[in-house]
Amino acid sequence: MSSIFTKIVQGEIPSYKIAEDDTYFAFLDINPLAKGHTLVIPKKETNYIFAMGDDELAGLMLFAKKIALALESVVPCKRIGVAVLGLEVAHTHIHLVPINTVYDIDFKQPKLSFTPQEFEALREAIASKVV
Ligand code: AMP
Repeated sequence: MSSIFTKIVQGEIPSYKIAEDDTYFAFLDINPLAKGHTLVIPKKETNYIFAMGDDELAGLMLFAKKIALALESVVPCKRIGVAVLGLEVAHTHIHLVPINTVYDIDFKQPKLSFTPQEFEALREAIASKVV
């Protein structure tokens, strides 16, 4: 069965898409730890980041870099924190989280909630900065 993220890539489930190319896809996390919390994934379903081929993994990081630079130009923060967990969704994804303190990337913190309009405005602002 396809992962929920494959369904997002295929447009079967909606997402707040930031950017995509032939191989990678980025979208807002629906239960964000911080404003702008974004997930970057390979379109090809791989369950564990370190099971990826070298070139595919390097490409994922370079794609994540592009998204992070766009993200930090929109969301004021000290830097973009990076985390890989995969305990909930077994489709490789990199969390990009705008952080000011270590607590901003503490996955035990309560998640933030935004209206669909707020998510969409944020998505559009970040997407417009991706080069
Ligand atoms: P983990 O697998 O532990 O790295 O966490 C999976 C992440 O995916 C969590 O931060 C969820 O909020 C996020 N997530 C799950 N379903 C969706 C979805 N449909 N759209 C956006 N983010 C999602």
